[in-house]
Amino acid sequence: MIMDCEQYTGKCVCGREHTLETRKVVVAEKAIDHFEEYMQELGLTGRRTVVYDEITWKLTEGKHVKADQNIVLDPNGLRAEDILIEKMMKDLDSPEVIVAVGAGTIMDFGRYPAYKLGIPFVAIPTLASSDGFTANICSAIMNGQKKSTPMCAPVLVVADLDIISGAPKRLIASGINDILAKYTSLADWRMSHLVDGEYYCPMVADLAEHALKLMRDAADKYAATGIADHEAMTMAQMESGLTMQLLDHSRAASGAEHLMAHLVEMKPPRFEKAEGIHGECVGVGTFACIREYHKLAGMKPKARPFVPLTRDWVVEKFGERLADGIMKENENDVLGTFDPQNIVDRWDEIKAMLDALPSVEEMEKLYSDCGCKYLPEHIGIDPALADEMLDISAAIRNRLTLIRMKRVLDFE
Ligand SMILES: [Zn+2]
Ligand SMILES: [Zn+2]
Repeated sequence: MIMDCEQYTGKCVCGREHTLETRKVVVAEKAIDHFEEYMQELGLTGRRTVVYDEITWKLTEGKHVKADQNIVLDPNGLRAEDILIEKMMKDLDSPEVIVAVGAGTIMDFGRYPAYKLGIPFVAIPTLASSDGFTANICSAIMNGQKKSTPMCAPVLVVADLDIISGAPKRLIASGINDILAKYTSLADWRMSHLVDGEYYCPMVADLAEHALKLMRDAADKYAATGIADHEAMTMAQMESGLTMQLLDHSRAASGAEHLMAHLVEMKPPRFEKAEGIHGECVGVGTFACIREYHKLAGMKPKARPFVPLTRDWVVEKFGERLADGIMKENENDVLGTFDPQNIVDRWDEIKAMLDALPSVEEMEKLYSDCGCKYLPEHIGIDPALADEMLDISAAIRNRLTLIRMKRVLDFE
């Protein structure tokens, strides 16, 4: 599959003018054999530095692309952190384009310098278990803190299926989880648009929906046969990443379910033993949300006035260490920006969205047949916290989701 990204740019029905730094995404067998043609086509002809680590250097043996300079990093202790990336930048031999060959960490070793130097960046993913490749976000540790920093996206992505198909089962499952999360992330976005008038783009929502369909079909096939359709799975990740570039935020790809991944990273009291890669934590969040959303669909809400989160509650759930950050995030709580009665008035439409989600049984079977993590105990969370974990994680980000809306609703 080759995706020409121009079709998504320009004036849109949503009223915005969308732009993309990514111009072409190639997902195909032996894609690397045509690498020079793609570079030529996009005018990426200048001095080229190619960044690998020793593992991806070995993995791509015999397929190394042409370079004016190769940098092969020692994978021991390698992490995406500003000081380490800046150290590598001292060795750069005045590149005019940077190519990164690897997964998340190596991508940031390409993305960050390219951004700082104002030159284009090209990605050759060796794994496709997340949607970060085509996003314009750098997840490196900055000033000692792990966070997502807006940065450039690759101009060109060349995913060679001969390389990617070597992915271990755990990463395949995690990749499936990250895309199936769109069931709830899209529902959250649409509900928020409905009750709070939050900006919504039908074109981007369609693209996210398409990524979800690609992955769902591939997951069904994988569940039934054990054969992974890497082409479809990889393209689903690429499309999901593009939605973040098109919106300049992750709204289409990340709702209440994604906050579970943040919760696991933050490790508040009682969650100290939680552990899992991104997609696994997201899978647990998605399954819990689907269960909760179906439950709520069967009830009738009544509006109650908005009350800000209290410091006592935040300290109880997050501990003193994290309390200040959580309080700050909720300073301008989105729940206080609209009349909760809107939710009640639009409940029939919301209920229809919730009813359209796959059933709990369907998801449970799919997850388990694909070897996905989806229960709290799969990622080291005490099942006794299952009822609370969504309400706690909803406080991590001031973004409107149905889980957050529960704070202004009584259900009967
Ligand atoms: Zn739009
Ligand atoms: Zn994700």
